[in-house]
Amino acid sequence: MPTPLLVVGSSVKCPHSADGAIVTKNIRVSSGGQAVATLPDPCAIAGCKNPANAGGPCVVALFQMPATRVFIGGLPALLATSIGLCQPLSLPAVVQVAMPRAGGT
Ligand SMILES: [Zn+2]
Repeated sequence: MPTPLLVVGSSVKCPHSADGAIVTKNIRVSSGGQAVATLPDPCAIAGCKNPANAGGPCVVALFQMPATRVFIGGLPALLATSIGLCQPLSLPAVVQVAMPRAGGT
């Protein structure tokens, strides 16, 4: 069972439930009609309410652990199992990929 690829429409939330939006430069490869995300695509977090005395709001999630065998334009594809760390706190993002149509390992 291959791991689903992350696409621009994948649901990414910071640990405080603010929505994130993956921004990719990949325009060549899509899955289910949405561009597949690759390293080092950032995921912009909007509206995080984490208070300043707890470290402040999340601004962006940066991914680690991409695919080891799926490359797009020379960059490793991101997977549903890739770890997104919300900066500046380095807290893990919550990634949900619905209805996978393509996968890789
Ligand atoms: Zn947050």
